[in-house]
Amino acid sequence: MPRPLVATIHSNALRHNLAVARRSAPGARVWAVVKANGYGHGLIRAMRAFNSADGLALLEVENVTVLRELGWTKPILLLEGFFEASDLAFLTKYDIETVVHCNEQIAMIERSRVAKPLNVHLKLNSGMNRLGFAPEQYRDAYNRLRALHQVGNISFMTHFANADNAGNPRMPLQEQAKCFFSTVEGLPGERSLSNSAAVLMEPDLAANWIRPGIMLYGGAPGCGTAESFGLQPAMTLTSEIIGIQQISAGKAVGYGSRFVADKPMTIGVVACGYADGYPRHAPDGTPILIDGVKTRLVGRVSMDMITVDLTEIPGTYVGSKVTLWGEGLPIDDVANVAGTIGYELMCAVTSRVRIVEE
Ligand SMILES: *Cc1c(COP(=O)(O)O)cnc(C)c1O
Repeated sequence: MPRPLVATIHSNALRHNLAVARRSAPGARVWAVVKANGYGHGLIRAMRAFNSADGLALLEVENVTVLRELGWTKPILLLEGFFEASDLAFLTKYDIETVVHCNEQIAMIERSRVAKPLNVHLKLNSGMNRLGFAPEQYRDAYNRLRALHQVGNISFMTHFANADNAGNPRMPLQEQAKCFFSTVEGLPGERSLSNSAAVLMEPDLAANWIRPGIMLYGGAPGCGTAESFGLQPAMTLTSEIIGIQQISAGKAVGYGSRFVADKPMTIGVVACGYADGYPRHAPDGTPILIDGVKTRLVGRVSMDMITVDLTEIPGTYVGSKVTLWGEGLPIDDVANVAGTIGYELMCAVTSRVRIVEE
């Protein structure tokens, strides 16, 4: 008899959300981003649901063999590039495209003997100051790559720091976009800028390829709500009440006795804890659904259990259905209260959580 905690993956929602991305950027091709095990939804499941995408983008080199062996023949892109010279033979063997973001990578390509030319995506640091060549180094990097027989197509990409808040004065999105387009002006090759937030908020920047991630999984990209963008949750995490306590006013619940009842209360114990990926920092008041009725977390999250307020929900019992997030309770609502983002909650679901696909 398995533990009642289950992550249900809604394949139809994954397909629907991909269609939303396409509709937002009708002229662009789509890299469906499947890094981090398809944002926690399962790499293979994501691959199958996104079979109409133009390519898959991820960064775990060891996972690309799985995609090829299961029959993915379209492009695959390594978003962080490769890490050692010995990766290059592997990339050409499996026909993997790679980001090139630093001179060390170019030097490794120069020294390599590849069986066939490698398609590369030259990354510009247009203001996020994470990966990429500075604008003034970019043309040199391009020329150096273009001169190599080991290199096939060269595409151009950058990544936004603030697509969810385009007006951030420290680095406005339009400034990054302008930097990108002026730096690559006249260079022959495809252009890619947009993550989910840019796809949804700045469709004019879609260029040749978009790179949606979170939106495909039904999460809000840091702005708006998933529902307002027409996205459907792709993961619903459910469990059951496994114990009930009646406590009187003044009694405390759980580790550290963080929550103290101010009246007689009914407390439900749910089979789900931080070892399953539920955020340990979730405060009292974090939303949760019991038999479809919204209530709140009370008391500290433990490794394997959380405690919830059932006082106002008559008729609950051991076995009552609990929704931690997903259908009926947006993951972003839980994340916001818990001081994190939907991305982190999805990726954090641990391997002991049973996954069911529908
Ligand atoms: C993860 C990632 C994306 C997808 O970002 P979302 O916000 O999930 O849409 C796009 N581009 C790059 C380079 C990434 O690393």
